[in-house]
Amino acid sequence: MCHNPQPVKFSRKSRLFSHKRLANVSMTSSGFTNLFLIVLALYTLVQLGLKWRHIHHVDRHRHAVPSEFAESITLAEHQKAASYTIAKSKLAMAMTLWDGLVLLGLTLGGGVGLLDGWCRSVFSPESPYWLVPMATLSTVTTLLSLPWSLLVLIGMKLFGGYASLDLFWHKYLSLGVLSGTALVFAVVLSTALFSMPWSLYSTFGLEQRFGFNKTTVKILTIDVLKSISLGWVFGIPLVTVIIWLMERMGAYWWVYAWAVWVIFGLLIMAIYPHFIAPIFNKFVPLEDVALKARIEGLLKRCGFSSNGVFVMDGSRRSAHSNAYFSGFGRNKRIVFYDTLIEKLSPEQIEAVLAHELGHYRRHHIIKRMVMLYGSAFVFMFVLGLLKQSAWFYEGLGVAQPSTAAALMLFMLVLPVFTFMLDPISSLLSRRHEFEADAYAASQSSAQALISGLVKLYRDNANTVTPDPLHSAVYDSHPPAAIRVAALKKIA
Ligand SMILES: [Zn+2]
Repeated sequence: MCHNPQPVKFSRKSRLFSHKRLANVSMTSSGFTNLFLIVLALYTLVQLGLKWRHIHHVDRHRHAVPSEFAESITLAEHQKAASYTIAKSKLAMAMTLWDGLVLLGLTLGGGVGLLDGWCRSVFSPESPYWLVPMATLSTVTTLLSLPWSLLVLIGMKLFGGYASLDLFWHKYLSLGVLSGTALVFAVVLSTALFSMPWSLYSTFGLEQRFGFNKTTVKILTIDVLKSISLGWVFGIPLVTVIIWLMERMGAYWWVYAWAVWVIFGLLIMAIYPHFIAPIFNKFVPLEDVALKARIEGLLKRCGFSSNGVFVMDGSRRSAHSNAYFSGFGRNKRIVFYDTLIEKLSPEQIEAVLAHELGHYRRHHIIKRMVMLYGSAFVFMFVLGLLKQSAWFYEGLGVAQPSTAAALMLFMLVLPVFTFMLDPISSLLSRRHEFEADAYAASQSSAQALISGLVKLYRDNANTVTPDPLHSAVYDSHPPAAIRVAALKKIA
């Protein structure tokens, strides 16, 4: 029986030569602290600077609608988009500063170390003997309905199940895995709590002010409860498995953990349209006969088979409109927000759908997945290296290394260190948008797509005069003027 949380073995002889060699990179913990502080300061300053530029650019252009949009967007609508963009950017600036402080608190301020200490003390050999089997049971019982769990509990009592469950945990798991899972949830929960006031303000303050918010405190509370339950049902098993692999699979744990993560991601994608999305929204098959016939014509032209065209009650939460695909293989679903159906003409809806089909036909979804999982493979390798390096923990304010602490520190600081890659992924995404637009123009009407897009820009109060540098770094979609110009060239 192993009761001790497994400490990370720095001296472990790694068979992976590259890891071993890289682990010898000379870095001191104070050196890493300084590096982290410098990169975080740059990350914060660059983000604030870009938002500041964006705000001033939008403000400078608020007095006149650009000539190419003069017929479709009124000055009042253009000015509303400017005010909305500026308000959102100011909020983003405040959140950048706040998130930086939270990150510092969790790392150098000792937050992760403190939470890890708590989790270890809860799951320690001194903790009550029933805690370990109860942790198992609580996971099992959430998956079973109440009558079944009562039967399970009685059965366990009668047949000495607690003891065998206890044995099972200690043979295959350890208290380290349990406290590690607890730490992951403690960190996720605390970051969620720290960001909650901001998301509440965003929904009930900012979005409300500009007339986009349709959600109520009741809907939001129910949404949060549903999300927590989903996180519990899917998150606990995943995190437990990942931490177990990290502790037990030797030098190549990161390959196994990566494989589990990929399989899990694909599984979620496969079940999302049928089991997860309906928990939050109602989906009804598209009823409009004329529109349906038009859409089926397009699908046939494009040689596309799907599991149906659905309308989602997006208007329950927000007046913003959208359309998307979900699932893969034969499970693909086309989903329109009810707000989109309301606002666009059948011709425009067809063109927007043709754009979405373009993403599919040009293999953008597969390409994005390969990129996502490919970069995850690299990040997992780097985590494998950092997990063995004392300077990584000490440099980020954790005195006692643990597997879960390595995982959480890595997840927390990763965005700061990879920020410089964001413009590349934005650029690729914008390139995909141009390709999908070109596809839509070839299968549907470029003119209808232009008018539909402009309507969406207008109704969603998206600015048509963004700062070019801000747009290059952040925007997954090309600025309206450039996008429309490209479409006009094809039309
Ligand atoms: Zn697109």
